Amino acid sequence: MKRQIRSLFSGKNMLIYFFVVIIPVLASSYQYYSVITGKIEGRLSDKVMKEAVQNSLYIENFMVETVGRIETLALTISAKDNPAWIQEMLSKMHQLDPRFSGFIWASDTGQIRLSSIPFDGKLNLSDRSYFTEAIRTGRSQISEAYFGRINGNYIVSVATPVIDSEEQIIGVLIGSVNLQVMSEYVNQLSNSEVRLYDHYGNLLFLSNSSGKIRHPVSAQYELNNVPWKLEVVIDLFHPDFSGRLLLFVVFAFILANGCFMIFQLWRMRRNLQKEREQNEAQKLKLIGTIAASTAHEIRNPLTGIKGFISLLSEKYTDEKDQYFFSLIKKEIDRINSIVSELLIIGKPAETEATQEVSPLEEILTDILPLIESEAHLYNVSLLVDIPDRPLPVRCSKVHIKQVLLNLVKNALEAMVSGGELTIRILAEKQQLTIIVSDTGIGMSRQVVKEIFTPFFTLKPNGTGLGLVVCQNIIESCGGVIHIESEPGKGTDVFIRLPLVQT
Ligand code: ADP
Ligand code: MG
Repeated sequence: MKRQIRSLFSGKNMLIYFFVVIIPVLASSYQYYSVITGKIEGRLSDKVMKEAVQNSLYIENFMVETVGRIETLALTISAKDNPAWIQEMLSKMHQLDPRFSGFIWASDTGQIRLSSIPFDGKLNLSDRSYFTEAIRTGRSQISEAYFGRINGNYIVSVATPVIDSEEQIIGVLIGSVNLQVMSEYVNQLSNSEVRLYDHYGNLLFLSNSSGKIRHPVSAQYELNNVPWKLEVVIDLFHPDFSGRLLLFVVFAFILANGCFMIFQLWRMRRNLQKEREQNEAQKLKLIGTIAASTAHEIRNPLTGIKGFISLLSEKYTDEKDQYFFSLIKKEIDRINSIVSELLIIGKPAETEATQEVSPLEEILTDILPLIESEAHLYNVSLLVDIPDRPLPVRCSKVHIKQVLLNLVKNALEAMVSGGELTIRILAEKQQLTIIVSDTGIGMSRQVVKEIFTPFFTLKPNGTGLGLVVCQNIIESCGGVIHIESEPGKGTDVFIRLPLVQT
């Protein structure tokens, strides 16, 4: 286990980690980033455009309303020719409405008569284009924005001609509008960064400044009644977006690591399984070799013993002795059968055997009487179904016989209280299938897994070699053997062998 864990950090595993975790996490995160960026960008574009239009409308309204207020004031002034009263009106209006940073009441020649803020009086407005335009057109005019040094904000002036009852311009009322006030209103209206530019590109105000914008999504809108341009900007990397991206990366990382662990576990298991199988195969090979060599050594003395026992049994004719001799003979026969089976396991692929072509239908017909009598002993009915055609297979006669008899023996031994034994042969063009079925005790899944292991037996007198021998023979003849069984229902043994083409 320690070795396995240490090997997790080997170079090969690092490479796997790189391909299973690092690359997929980076690729999927980038993919997610692109998709989500596109989606959010689309959504934000709509949002900023909407906000740009809304804010522009608001500013336009603000300006219309502001001009309206100055015009109302101008109308009030035109009705009264009382400087003290006008001065009071200007001061009051200035104090009441925070958007105004001052009012000037000037003559039509540009001379300042009254002001809501202290003034040196030298200033003449006749050179200001908005002022002359107001006189010329008789309508309110909005000035270019200029930087107010006193309050540090941009200001615009609105000049409104004051007209008396004879339609004569008697002066001009000028209201200065602090754009910062507008910015504060905009601030309350939206959460996005709003920038207002004049037509020179000067930034008149910046509302909701969010600092450094890494990935700006913006929309611009030209205002109608003033030559200004409004821009709304949102940072794509707002905390919500960054949070989602981070969450995705963490999730992808955990998932990929999970996959990596599962993959590594699977690999570890597979390697262990392979090792185990190799060990098993080596063990079997060793058993086979030992079995074959031992069997060979046992056989010769066994023949001698059998001969001597025969001689002795002729000498001692007493009934009791004869019984013992018969027991000895039976045991010797048993040893002999084990030994011959061991010999087959030891030498699986006899070249001679695989060269021999045998007629399967004839072999079966030969041993059928034997099978019939055995079945009768077990109170089992026999059913045989063979196609009426030659069935040549490349396998020695003796071995085929042994396979069939081993299978029949197992089937009969599984049907202690009677049943049905079926032997069927299905022939196709290239191959044939021999099916030996019984209605006996059957086997559990676990037992089916074990039955081809040498010496595995569930019978008190079994050798546990019968099926191993069958498998060895069938495989050496180029076929396969396969068993299906259900406990309590019975067993089907399938043997597939290639047919010799004649
Ligand atoms: P043995 O017959 O000497 O026990 P085998 O290799 O022929 O050895 O069979 C191994 C085991 O497989 C048997 O002990 C038996 O438990 C099981 N087996 C084989 N064939 C059948 C069958 N037709 N029905 C039920 N069990 C079977
Ligand atoms: Mg057997």
